[in-house]
Amino acid sequence: MSAETDALERAYHHALTYLAGLDAQSVSATTSAATLRTRLAAPLPETGTPAARVIDDLVAATEGGHVGSAGGRFFGWVIGGALPSALGADWLTSTWDENTTIAASGPAGAAVEEVAGAWIKEVLDLPREASFAFTTGCQMAHVTGLAAARHALLAREGWDVEEQGLFGAPPIRVLANDQRHGSAVRALRFLGLGAGSLRSLPTRDGRLGRSTLEQALADGGGPTIVLLNAGDLNLGAFDDFTRLIPIARAAGTWVHVDGAFGLWARASREHRALTEGVDLADSWATDAHKWLNTPKDIGVAIVRDAVAHRAAMTQSASYIDTSGELRDAIDWTPDWTRRARGHAVYAALRELGRKGVADMIDRCCRQAATMAEGIAALPGAELVAPAILNQAMVRFPDPRASDDDAHDRQTLAVIDAVNASGEAYFSGTVWQGRRAMRISVCNWRTTDRDVERAVAAVAAALRG
Ligand SMILES: *Cc1c(COP(=O)(O)O)cnc(C)c1O
Repeated sequence: MSAETDALERAYHHALTYLAGLDAQSVSATTSAATLRTRLAAPLPETGTPAARVIDDLVAATEGGHVGSAGGRFFGWVIGGALPSALGADWLTSTWDENTTIAASGPAGAAVEEVAGAWIKEVLDLPREASFAFTTGCQMAHVTGLAAARHALLAREGWDVEEQGLFGAPPIRVLANDQRHGSAVRALRFLGLGAGSLRSLPTRDGRLGRSTLEQALADGGGPTIVLLNAGDLNLGAFDDFTRLIPIARAAGTWVHVDGAFGLWARASREHRALTEGVDLADSWATDAHKWLNTPKDIGVAIVRDAVAHRAAMTQSASYIDTSGELRDAIDWTPDWTRRARGHAVYAALRELGRKGVADMIDRCCRQAATMAEGIAALPGAELVAPAILNQAMVRFPDPRASDDDAHDRQTLAVIDAVNASGEAYFSGTVWQGRRAMRISVCNWRTTDRDVERAVAAVAAALRG
């Protein structure tokens, strides 16, 4: 057997063993950081090791150090799993190992991305003529969409930002829903707009009010980006796009929507109404690696003004030929050498179909609601926010105390106890100054039985 066959067969075997063990294994990592370090720590080897042995050793050294976010009982942050075909396609993406900077170095990758991009616009029902880019995640989708915004807004002022940079440029202000995700702020930093360009607008129940936006627009002028949410991290709340976007656009602003997971509500039957009017925006950032359940790293930027998008990203070089028939990713993404990101997206959308995507979204939402209600009904638990979508929050007041600090400590202790049980995994947050446990359901693998197990794990933690 060749070293290659040997290594790949070992990897295949380990992968299947890992996946088959997910249901029985602890969701939390069970190996301490110290043990992981001890197992891995070694001087850089002077000489080589057979490939298959490297794979076996890597698996052995990291054993117990993986958080089971691939499995159905993980409800922390917003992470998502990997559908079977998407995982398989991801393996092949590495096997083909194309560099899709330009189509010439990855024609199949470019062709698949063309189709996957068109399908994404269709399943999310966004303007079909919009341009798109597959990025490493929603963070870089923000960078992409906001770079297009920066280009377009400054071009209107007679300023060529790609050529002239930002020193001396007319300032751009960003009016944002105060529940915006930190990745959007980072995108503003990367783009030279600075975190200070952002003005946080107060919200109610995670939603920006019409008069709040109108006042902010009137209070100052100049090039403006309006940043709205399609599903914020804590509540899963959606801005009222139908009302807000026409106001923002009438004021000449660029509207960018963070829909990392929430934009997928648009693919559902039961929750689509939440996204009403979102198609009126100028740019959208979302993820495939969260709710569409492709492996990491796949985000998607979609931009109405394809000319601005291309102008913000394109780069020519004497040694690259972009004159082919297929789309060159370098015109649309911030990366140079890049992985083919379309294969896994194509696979996931084909495996599920439009109906399967809708079913998965609706199932996750139903499970989040059931879990939130089930936990809230336990003695010692309290509902903080019901599931609007697939996110909810609960907390655990200390029955022996009446101060918020004690309730915060009890909430943290219960989260720790549940996670330590290995039965389910949750992450915490601070909501309106108080600690809460977040419930996030976005894995295709989660079953109703997993939801029962999670509620039982919380009940057991509360019993102490
Ligand atoms: C996860 C998330 C992001 C960042 O997405 P990445 O894919 O991690 O870069 C942005 N916004 C929201 C609402 C998110 O949940």
